[in-house]
Amino acid sequence: MTESEKEHPNRVALSIFILEKEMEGFQVGKAEDKMGWRASDTRSLVFENVKVPKENLLGQEGRGFEQTLVGLDHGRISIAALSLGIAETAYEAALQYSSERRQFGEPINRFQAIRFMLANMATEIECGRHLVYEAARLKDQGKPFRKEASMAKLYNSELAMRVTTKAVQIFGGYGYIKDYPVERYMRDAKVCEIGEGTSEIQRIVIANEIIKNSE
Ligand SMILES: Cc1cc2nc3c(=O)[nH]c(=O)nc-3n(C[C@H](O)[C@H](O)[C@H](O)COP(=O)(O)OP(=O)(O)OC[C@H]3O[C@@H](n4cnc5c(N)ncnc54)[C@H](O)[C@@H]3O)c2cc1C
Repeated sequence: MTESEKEHPNRVALSIFILEKEMEGFQVGKAEDKMGWRASDTRSLVFENVKVPKENLLGQEGRGFEQTLVGLDHGRISIAALSLGIAETAYEAALQYSSERRQFGEPINRFQAIRFMLANMATEIECGRHLVYEAARLKDQGKPFRKEASMAKLYNSELAMRVTTKAVQIFGGYGYIKDYPVERYMRDAKVCEIGEGTSEIQRIVIANEIIKNSE
C-alpha cells in the first residue's frame, strides 16, 4: 500500500485524460456571476458520453488521485502568493490613504487605532511572505513541501481577508464605495480561502502531515 493509499483509504481509482474542445459531448457552461475575480471567466465544463482515446491518458492509469494531490500542492503556493499580493496592495493603499485623510485636524495615521491596524497588517504580511518563500524554496530544491504549501495557502488567504477588511475600515465610508479599489480587494481575497482547497481542507492536510511525521 502506498503512503497516499494509507492516508486516503476511501479513495477511488481515478485516471486523468486530456480532452479536446472539439470532442463530441463536450460543452462549456455559462459564465458564473461572481462576487470577485470578475476579470477571470469561470465556467463549468460539461462532459456527456465523451469518447476519449486511450492515448489521451495523462500519467499512469488509476493514479489520477495522487497526480491531482501533487498538482494541488503546487497550485497552493500560487494561491498563497496571489493572496499575499492582494494583502500587500490593500495595505499599501491603506497606508497611503491614512496619510492623506485628515480628521479632527490631523492625518488619521496619527490616531493609535489606525496605527495599530497598520502595524498588525505590516507584521502579518511579513509572516505570510516568509511562509510563501519557504514553501517555494523547498519546492525549488526538490524537497517535500506539502505541509508548507498548505500552511502558506491557509495563512496568506486568511491574511488577505483580514488585511483587506481592515483596509476598507481605514478608508471609512469610501472603503465601501466602488470609486476606491479596496472593496474589490476584499471581494477578490475571499475566493482565495475557497479555491485550491478551502481553509478547512488546508487544516486537514497540515494536521495529517504533522501527525504522520510525529508517529
Ligand atoms: C472562482 C472559482 C474558480 C474555481 N476554479 C476552479 C478550477 O479552476 N478548477 C477546479 O477544479 N475547481 C475550481 N473551483 C472550485 C473550487 O476548487 C471549490 O469550490 C473548492 O475546492 C471547494 O469545494 P466545494 O465548492 O465543493 O465545497 P464543499 O466541498 O461543498 O465545501 C463546503 C464547506 O464544507 C467544508 N468541508 C468540506 N469537506 C470538509 C471536511 N472533510 N472537513 C471539514 N470541512 C469540510 C468546506 O471547507 C466548506 O466550508 C473554483 C471555484 C471558484 C469559486
